[in-house]
Amino acid sequence: MIKTIVTVLLIAGFSMFGLAQSHYPGQHTDKLKIAESIDFKAEAFNMSEVKLTNSRFTENMQRDSKWILSLGVDRLLHSFRTNAGVWAGLEGGYDTVDKLGGWESLDCELRGHTTGHILSGLAMLYGSTENDIYKIKADSIITGLAEVQKALGQSGYLSAFPENLIDRVIDGKRVWAPWYTLHKLYAGLIDQYLYCNNEQALKIVSKMGDWAYNKLFVLSEEQRTTMLRNEFGGINDSFYCLYQITGKNEYKWLAEFFYHNATLDPLKDKVDNLSNKHANTFIPKLIGVVRGFEIGGNSDYKEIADYFWDTVVNHHSFCSGSNSDKEKFFEPDQTSLHLSGYTGESCNVYNMLKLTRHLFCLDADVKYADYYEKALFNHILGQQDTKTGMVAYFLPMLPGAYKVYSTPDSSFWCCVGTGFENQAKYGEAIYYHTNTDLFVNLFIPSQLYWKEKGVTIIQQTQFPKEGKLTLWVNSEKPTLFTLKLRYPYWANKASVKVNGKKIKISNHPDSYIAINQIWRNGDKVEVEYPMVLKINPTPENPNVVSISYGPVVLAAKMGTEGMEAPAPYSNPNLHNDYYTYNYHIPENLCNELNLNGKKISSWLAPVEEEFKFRGVDSATGKVYEFVPISDLHRERYIMYWKLQ
Ligand SMILES: [Zn+2]
Repeated sequence: MIKTIVTVLLIAGFSMFGLAQSHYPGQHTDKLKIAESIDFKAEAFNMSEVKLTNSRFTENMQRDSKWILSLGVDRLLHSFRTNAGVWAGLEGGYDTVDKLGGWESLDCELRGHTTGHILSGLAMLYGSTENDIYKIKADSIITGLAEVQKALGQSGYLSAFPENLIDRVIDGKRVWAPWYTLHKLYAGLIDQYLYCNNEQALKIVSKMGDWAYNKLFVLSEEQRTTMLRNEFGGINDSFYCLYQITGKNEYKWLAEFFYHNATLDPLKDKVDNLSNKHANTFIPKLIGVVRGFEIGGNSDYKEIADYFWDTVVNHHSFCSGSNSDKEKFFEPDQTSLHLSGYTGESCNVYNMLKLTRHLFCLDADVKYADYYEKALFNHILGQQDTKTGMVAYFLPMLPGAYKVYSTPDSSFWCCVGTGFENQAKYGEAIYYHTNTDLFVNLFIPSQLYWKEKGVTIIQQTQFPKEGKLTLWVNSEKPTLFTLKLRYPYWANKASVKVNGKKIKISNHPDSYIAINQIWRNGDKVEVEYPMVLKINPTPENPNVVSISYGPVVLAAKMGTEGMEAPAPYSNPNLHNDYYTYNYHIPENLCNELNLNGKKISSWLAPVEEEFKFRGVDSATGKVYEFVPISDLHRERYIMYWKLQ
């Protein structure tokens, strides 16, 4: 028995997963039988109410869309059809479908997860753009999945792998992460119902929920404990969602069944038990926990989620908002000892942002918006290669490393799955609201339609190239509300003008500037947040530092010496090469930096017209060019320095 448990733990430790979109407070109110029972301090807008306008964010989204649309429906359904025996290729059928590779191979135990992520990605692309092309593709996938579910029998089971994998996890036998994989499918189908009104998706996922209930309600506590040692993603969140949509208590029971006591209970006592835990097995459990609180669950759940978030963000995260080394949390405040080539799994950031959104809705605390901005602008935006649209698994902190990107159809790592979603939902966290207030949390070119007020807000900005933004108010009639502008921690002496007239700002950075007035059509708000260069020491070593400009981490460009093809792309002929990648860092590459006692603001000089800075090392005379880490691609870089 002990041996079996060890095996399960090892397997969980090597898997690395994410979670899908689904539901935030304030959204989809017309589709929920069970509403949240908490008074939220802020609510999210539906995705269709926020449209992005041209910027780097829309460019990323377009590359993502192109990739998702390039993967044919037959390819995404093939493993499901094969599992159910409904693939009627007959002789020669084996070469009719161009099979997906990597973690979608027919002999990989995670097969099918990508189809779930793509259903979520298509739902968000449709939610963000209302372009039917995304809905049409998703409808075809869902029709195919319904056929597979029918062929697999009456129980409601639906997967690209046999049910036997679930039996193995219940029995504590060796298996990768079947509930994790199913979670992607649950979430993708729920998203298709919530964002695209696909009723068939709801029928399919409800049957899957019935199957799960019948499978699990007969288990003993010992079996449950054994099963939960294996990674299960955020399936508790999906079951809470299904409960809210249908009102069926069985789904709520399922969500609570996946409460993982061994991991979560120590957090109640404010014990930092994170060290050496697989980060992305851990984080999604908290999203489920906070969702449970939102719909009237145990009040401990909120404290658990708060403590976890503070601990991860303040004691286990890098300057980019990323966390983990080789997928695991390390000892608190030890970042300088973990500058490896395998830091910052992208799924972890995806999930931390999701948790952050829920906590923001509960408390409307500016710290959540600060973190969201940091992780979005430094990690997520730069996860995607600007040339090919491929995405990186890790954000390596190792001086001289580079980002290693996936292939189009032979990787399908977990971070490819969450990557499809990351790049489709940049509109989600810019604005929040209450009945009386509008929060502007992120500085991203966009247009918001606030239906309840009949107000449209247009945001124009070049941020983070400059710390200025303009908001235009278009209002059907004069409307009273409080505009709450995030006054970020990195800014000082903010300046705000309303219709050209400067307003008095009495509060400090890291708060909200509140402007309460009757807003009229054509009102204009001009905001300026001065951005400064800053040195950020690691908590444990004042001489190991990163450099930032506003919230943006700057990295030095270190060239491409020794990067041979297929670098920086993953080699499809190697098994999970990202995990043991040899960066062949040139021997003379060094991250020691001598500023000769100068302040960073006088050492680094902006390069005119470009979003770049230049500095010369006082000891060696070497010239360094710095750019935002999210702009740095296909080249070596340094993010962390040893100050001399
Ligand atoms: Zn991942």
